Amino acid sequence: MTSPDERPLVTADEVARTFGKGPAAVVAVYGATCRVERGDRIAVTGPSGSGKSTLLHLLAGLDSPTTGTISWPGIGTKEKLRPGPVAVVFQAPSLMPALDVLENVALPLVLAGTDDPSARSAAADALALLGLSALAAKVPDELSGGQAQRVAVARSLVANPKLIVADEPTGQLDHATAAVVIDALLSAALVSGAALLVATHDPRVTERFARRWAMDDGRLRVAEEAACSR
Ligand code: ADP
Ligand code: MG
Repeated sequence: MTSPDERPLVTADEVARTFGKGPAAVVAVYGATCRVERGDRIAVTGPSGSGKSTLLHLLAGLDSPTTGTISWPGIGTKEKLRPGPVAVVFQAPSLMPALDVLENVALPLVLAGTDDPSARSAAADALALLGLSALAAKVPDELSGGQAQRVAVARSLVANPKLIVADEPTGQLDHATAAVVIDALLSAALVSGAALLVATHDPRVTERFARRWAMDDGRLRVAEEAACSR
């Protein structure tokens, strides 16, 4: 038998997602088959509207397929993905303005019922791992866009992820700032041992990833390994 540690984190088998019904229906993803294994670093490329977000939401368990099957053999059941083994980073960092950085990073644990001192301590660790401890007492209004997104990356680390899914995390950032956020995501994956799946339409982000999946009008093409340049 395969041990749980060797099983894929997520597998999708002929997964399709249609929005709406009848003549107005939009097929966002057609029959996608793919898997994410431990240690994977995957860029999901494709133009706007090609289905990247829909695919990522399905793989993160935020949405359910219209047809086909998704499972998380190396992680667990869909109900237990968050907070915990699957963390999601969105295009906008969506920090709570009334909370300071430490409290924002601790929030997923607090909402899941972790006691306050433990949640704060885990949040301080996550910030330290990304070199962000100096921001702990700031409020989101005091952060630059890149700092806020790195705090969102720290938040993704707080509940011991096995898979970090980031949907165009650098979409609102200039190139230099984007590179720093990608550095933070790669560091987060390294220190947590999580796999990383990042949607982007920025070629300069894509070239940092050895594995590349391309979405084209709802169809997924899983590319061969490419040489990874940093
Ligand atoms: P991408 O992230 O590559 O820009 P999306 O996955 O957001 O692509 O969208 C793929 C297609 O599905 C687009 O045509 C989009 O308009 C459509 N779509 C996505 N989400 C919804 C939704 N909630 N309701 C209706 N259509 C949607
Ligand atoms: Mg999108």
